[in-house]
Amino acid sequence: MTHKVELKPDERSALDWIETRQDHMVATLRDWVNTNSGSHNADGLEVMRGKLNEAFTELGGEIRAQELKPTTMVEKWRSQQQGFTPSFHLIQRPDAPIRIVLTGHHDTVFPADDSFQSWKMRDDNIMNGPGAADMKGGLLVMLHALLALERSPLKDRIGYDILISPDEETGSLGSGPILHALGAKADIGMTYEPALADGSLAGARKGVGKLVAEGLRQGGACRP
Ligand SMILES: [Zn+2]
Repeated sequence: MTHKVELKPDERSALDWIETRQDHMVATLRDWVNTNSGSHNADGLEVMRGKLNEAFTELGGEIRAQELKPTTMVEKWRSQQQGFTPSFHLIQRPDAPIRIVLTGHHDTVFPADDSFQSWKMRDDNIMNGPGAADMKGGLLVMLHALLALERSPLKDRIGYDILISPDEETGSLGSGPILHALGAKADIGMTYEPALADGSLAGARKGVGKLVAEGLRQGGACRP
């Protein structure tokens, strides 16, 4: 079912402005997807966070490196201590009456030695690259929606936190507590994962769980 939406003049002008950024958005996305930031590539994640700092500076606000606490994770069939690179955190108008939290991630599922490392255009409108949809493209959509808001008088009533984490593809175990705390003080929460292939949106996810049983190799109760 489709709904026709009548845009008000200020909404139309926001969309017209976004249209003028097309070339800039394509060039930025190309650069971001060519930057490997697999969840375990700490150097790449930090290069990518630097690129986020650069791009999101256009919004104004305060940008912080949000440290994440190390935690125990199950990787390669063993539980082990895992450290994280910092999250990107931007705080805009902390005293505004309406508070929004916007979240995303700059890690991808493609490690530094994966064969899939760079972009290509499938046609004039579709770029294919590691993390192009999930979710470096989503981060660009977030940024440009906020840049359009910053050009509108509505902005004075709206403050926001943006948290972009380096560990979403491995379960958000480092950034989870910070996401909880930000969500608790926000009126609205928004994230920028891609839609499904047919354009529909997932409204809820059950999460992810990994379990490992260790320490039963002695005493004869359980054979390795
Ligand atoms: Zn994602």
